[in-house]
Amino acid sequence: MTMNISHRVGCLSGLLILLAGCSQEDGSGSVQAGSRDRTGPPQVYVVNYPLQYFAQRIGGDLVKVVLPAPKDVDPAFWKPGAEAIAGYQQADLILLNGARYAKWVPKASLPRSRMVDTSASFRDRLIKIQDAVTHGHGPKGKHSHAGTAFTTWLSPTLAVQQSLAILEALQSRWPQHRAEFQGGFAALGKDLMALDQGMEDLLAKNEKNKSKPLFVSHPVYQYWTRRYGLNVKSVHWEPDAMPSAEAWKELERMHASHPAKWMIWEGSPIEAAVKRLEAMGIQSVVVRPCANRPMTSDYLQVMRENLGALSRVFAN
Ligand SMILES: [Zn+2]
Repeated sequence: MTMNISHRVGCLSGLLILLAGCSQEDGSGSVQAGSRDRTGPPQVYVVNYPLQYFAQRIGGDLVKVVLPAPKDVDPAFWKPGAEAIAGYQQADLILLNGARYAKWVPKASLPRSRMVDTSASFRDRLIKIQDAVTHGHGPKGKHSHAGTAFTTWLSPTLAVQQSLAILEALQSRWPQHRAEFQGGFAALGKDLMALDQGMEDLLAKNEKNKSKPLFVSHPVYQYWTRRYGLNVKSVHWEPDAMPSAEAWKELERMHASHPAKWMIWEGSPIEAAVKRLEAMGIQSVVVRPCANRPMTSDYLQVMRENLGALSRVFAN
């Protein structure tokens, strides 16, 4: 198993050397333009926390990675104000998630030469969402998942691809730090592939695990579902609100043909919803997408906690 992981990471390392060779001239000019009137390390602006975590692991102290979104919003649906936009405009590098994440980006006037779409390498494997509805429960207002599924990083292998794009962007702009960046990437890649292996190990405990029907509370688990070939149906619930009578009816209809024993939530669900699900024979478990900074700990820790939670779902 270990060999398999290093083999996969090794292949990526080979790829990145190739990539690094061809994109150098693009970078160096913009570095000077961006950092000329600032002291301290170059600034990398990102649109979500996974990208911040990946970039910081790769760049270490050599770059300052900034996510201007407040802690209590979903960065996917957040709209930056003038000050945050100015921050992005002056950044040395802007890392985008791609997959139509952060829909404010195409409408803002940002320096294209300093923007990198970290999911461009798997653009042809992005998932289109069918039948999306605008929904809004609780205090956060309405939003829609129409178009393209964007929670790419929940597939650890896609997270590695995004990290590779970050590595390439950093080393083409600051080639003098290539060795440090590659070291950071190698360590990160190993951690991400260990998450992938952890999930494979859970699923391997029982041959029926992949076909086990599951519910998810929100349409954000598409890449995770596809990566492991899981049997998932999604509703549109918020963890901090009791679903409507109509939503419960819809779940009961779905449950008739999809006899799930688990609901996977993005965040801790309210007690009333947990109890009512239990009455239907459905247990609740939390698998956090971690799109924004966690209260404590970090990305890797949250993903490891997710695996721990899932070990109840995929017990042998
Ligand atoms: Zn939603």
